[in-house]
Amino acid sequence: MSTSPRRVLVTGASRGIGRACALELAALGFDVAINFRSRADDAAAVLSAVHEAGGAGQLLPFDVGNRAEAEATLAADVAQRGAFWGVVLNAGVTQDAPFAGLDGAAWDRVLDTNLGGFFNVLRPLVMPMVGLRQGGRIVVMSSVTGLRGNIGQVNYGASKAGLIGAVRSLALELARRRIAVNAVAPGFIETEMLGALPRDEIEKLVPMRRLGQVEEVAALVGFLFGERAAYITGQTLSVDGGLA
Ligand code: NDP
Repeated sequence: MSTSPRRVLVTGASRGIGRACALELAALGFDVAINFRSRADDAAAVLSAVHEAGGAGQLLPFDVGNRAEAEATLAADVAQRGAFWGVVLNAGVTQDAPFAGLDGAAWDRVLDTNLGGFFNVLRPLVMPMVGLRQGGRIVVMSSVTGLRGNIGQVNYGASKAGLIGAVRSLALELARRRIAVNAVAPGFIETEMLGALPRDEIEKLVPMRRLGQVEEVAALVGFLFGERAAYITGQTLSVDGGLA
């Protein structure tokens, strides 16, 4: 068996939860590919932080919602550097509006990125993962909105609930290969995604009366990538201060 570190991909790793997952997995000894779409400076800063901590990684920019681009970039990367042992499918977007005012572009963009990304990123990677014959891990970032729903987030909720369904079926398909597939459902986590939402109003909705931190989500992802989590598959695990 190869002694080089196992490769993992984190999509949307230039900031927020994805950044924290990339740093956590690098600290655990994985070689981390840092995907992003537009914020190259932020992604480069994540890679520098990985290197400064003594870890290994590379940048791997592409739009997870663009099937042709994702497929071509991932195929070239796997051919050059080898298969991934694990993937954190984290990249996601919101475009909120009450359903009556939701336009088709907002529906398509959120579904294409959040749910389309599942197909666009994972399908090209699954057979190379299986070919490694070392088991593996896939963690998909869902949301409390996918479990409970939220006003103004019909598109986002559909995408995040869809991911949970996709996880359940893919977990069954890959169980025999020792590749565990799970979803993580964060509640309100302190990132740019919360935008201008008033923090004190949000905190009142949370049983624990505070926002979550990105490291609290990344810690669960790190656990799921560990040997001790090998028998957990097809699950959705919440990190939400009691919301769901
Ligand atoms: P941020 O908005 O802080 O970061 C989003 C990340 O996704 C960025 O790295 C961004 O890259 C990347 N990204 C967006 N679109 C694409 C795309 N088409 N292709 C590649 N990368 C893309 O989000 P969070 O860290 O808050 O959220 C991360 C995940 O967690 C998302 O799936 C989100 O839905 C989920 N989540 C977040 C919650 C929260 O409260 N924050 C709650 C529940 C779930 P770039 O910088 O280049 O734009």
